[in-house]
Amino acid sequence: MTESGSNASSTGSNGAALKRAVLPLTADDEFLARQIEDADLPALLLACAMLSRDPAVLDGAPRPVRGLLAGPNGGYDETQIADARARCFEALKNYRDGGCVAPARTTQPELREWLSFVIEEERLDEFMPFLLDELSLDGTDTRAPKWNKAELAPDRDFKVAIIGAGMSGICAAIRLQQAGIPFVIFEKSQSVGGTWHDNVYPGCRVDVSNHFYSYSFAQGFEWPFLFSPQPVLLDYFRRVADGFGLKEHIRFGTEVKRAVFDEATGGWTLELTGEDGTALEPFDAQLLVSGMGQLNRPNMPDIEGMDEFAGPTFHSARWDKGVDLTGKRVAVIGTGASACQFIPIVADQASELAVFQRTAPWLLPTENYHEEVPSGLQWLYQHVPFYAEWYRFWLFWSTAEGLLETVEVDPNWTGGPESVGPLNNEVRGMLTEYLKAATGGDADLLEKMTPHYPPFSKRFVRDNGILPRTFAREDVSLETAGIERINEKGILTKDGRQIEADVIIYGTGFTASEFLMPLEVVGRDGRKLHDEWNGDARAYLGITLPHFPNLFLLYGPNTNIVVNGSIIFFTECEVDYLLGSIELLLREGKNAMDCQKPVHDAYNERIDSDNMKRAWGAATVSTWYKNQHGRVSQNWPYGLLEYWKQTREVEPGDYELL
Ligand code: NAP
Repeated sequence: MTESGSNASSTGSNGAALKRAVLPLTADDEFLARQIEDADLPALLLACAMLSRDPAVLDGAPRPVRGLLAGPNGGYDETQIADARARCFEALKNYRDGGCVAPARTTQPELREWLSFVIEEERLDEFMPFLLDELSLDGTDTRAPKWNKAELAPDRDFKVAIIGAGMSGICAAIRLQQAGIPFVIFEKSQSVGGTWHDNVYPGCRVDVSNHFYSYSFAQGFEWPFLFSPQPVLLDYFRRVADGFGLKEHIRFGTEVKRAVFDEATGGWTLELTGEDGTALEPFDAQLLVSGMGQLNRPNMPDIEGMDEFAGPTFHSARWDKGVDLTGKRVAVIGTGASACQFIPIVADQASELAVFQRTAPWLLPTENYHEEVPSGLQWLYQHVPFYAEWYRFWLFWSTAEGLLETVEVDPNWTGGPESVGPLNNEVRGMLTEYLKAATGGDADLLEKMTPHYPPFSKRFVRDNGILPRTFAREDVSLETAGIERINEKGILTKDGRQIEADVIIYGTGFTASEFLMPLEVVGRDGRKLHDEWNGDARAYLGITLPHFPNLFLLYGPNTNIVVNGSIIFFTECEVDYLLGSIELLLREGKNAMDCQKPVHDAYNERIDSDNMKRAWGAATVSTWYKNQHGRVSQNWPYGLLEYWKQTREVEPGDYELL
């Protein structure tokens, strides 16, 4: 393990292997037409407009509709689909016959013209700067730091410590490396990957489309599935870490137990332990970054008699591969995103499966949830310049920004407590229809599976029909009477039935509200972070907090999203902000920056107030989004654009520079 420093780029580890390369398009007409059938048409139309520079591609083309209710292909009907395919075919044929000449550099008026095909005219100005950044149509990594320590402050000793080599820690390390800032990552396990390393339960996969759930700067990975399984995600993060040469800067098997701010240097001293718990040499860093995540400490419920159970038990995030479930009677507690992924697989192995549901999840119909990336889509990705960028943009625009309006609370809503406004109610209707169809006339199952709270006030569960089918099996029971206690033989329900089990699996989620636990953090004047928070974690932009200078949180309080987007997008914004902050310190020749309390408090007031205008804040249903004080401490109440805007530049006045 070494510290990465200003010579990091000289190692040759620049992630080039993860950059996308486009191959020449030489396919014949018939083959080309077949590939287009797998395209997401709004994205392909935009790519073709860019490629051909022919206004006819978009002129009079069907305008796509975005959002959950629109359906695939921007809501096009059959005639519109045929029309759009014909336009794309013509443009790609011309591109091929013209010798695959790379398109000229995009001008802003052109981009505006193309974007006006999908974005309302009145919102274009607001989105343009963001889209220029996100789309990076000139093929460069637009978000890479535009400064370097060697130029800015060559003689400063400025070292960064990152806790965690998961998605966030890796992202921070890459940007620090690009800026020539020395860093070390402390990772308690023996692998990179964070949650994708910890969660190995059967069926574990991502529930955000991979082409969006991926780093903007590492798009050269061929995702085999639209929503890839855990081993693929772990492979992606390992390859990113390897591609950027991060491994040699990671101290595996090392846990940061305590971090103490040093008033004299404005830096942090870290107390470390090895895997066997022995204390290691302390480490001094000028700045501390937490990439510890929210969803990594299992939440074990407090159910009477848990210790009495005679058989094996384990939590979904600590899956015990040594327990063979074949032919066993298995009880699963919980029906959240994790449990709903492993339940169908466990049902295939067990002789009997009893699933204990406290609150039904809303199922989000996703027909292609388990499907491989269609071959045509893969081919277009490889052969049509900028299709990948436009596809990623279209995912962002249609499924991320496009869903926020469905969770808005209408203050005048009189439609009852099971929805929060007319659009939310429309979604409720759509999801209910899906449940009715998926339960195939089984009224009892439909009743059990129908949630009685507004859609999206809890995290939805993606479904391609497998969950209702599993619950309908003869050897599977969906138990909704509630758990009275656990005993030696299994689970006693509140209505007095003894359900016998050989194994109990807890799919009971994580202690997400306990940010940065169990790390002890001591800031200015000896203030202890967990005392300050008192179970109610807050931060400015989810990143910094008063009295704890030079401590930067990634995936911190109120940076989680429910319906709209990918956590990787948020992390990239947070890391941009981190780099902007370091640049400020180096330019100003300062040691540390401490967030101004009034700025922090006013920000949190806005967040709290606006979260109450969203389904997850207004609804009374219990969720992991709310902490023990009932405050939504996880979620960001706005769109992605808003977070990008707020984290784009560091406002020096928001900080006391030390
Ligand atoms: P979760 O959503 O918090 O679900 C926990 C489940 O356990 C809920 O059904 C909960 O019931 C139940 N539960 C908790 N305590 C209980 C008790 N004492 N008695 C009975 N039931 C109890 O946890 P998760 O499924 O692990 O998912 C957490 C988050 O991780 C997700 O929301 C998602 O953001 C992320 N995740 C993502 C993926 C993915 O990308 N595919 C996969 C897994 C997880 P209540 O609903 O009544 O509280």
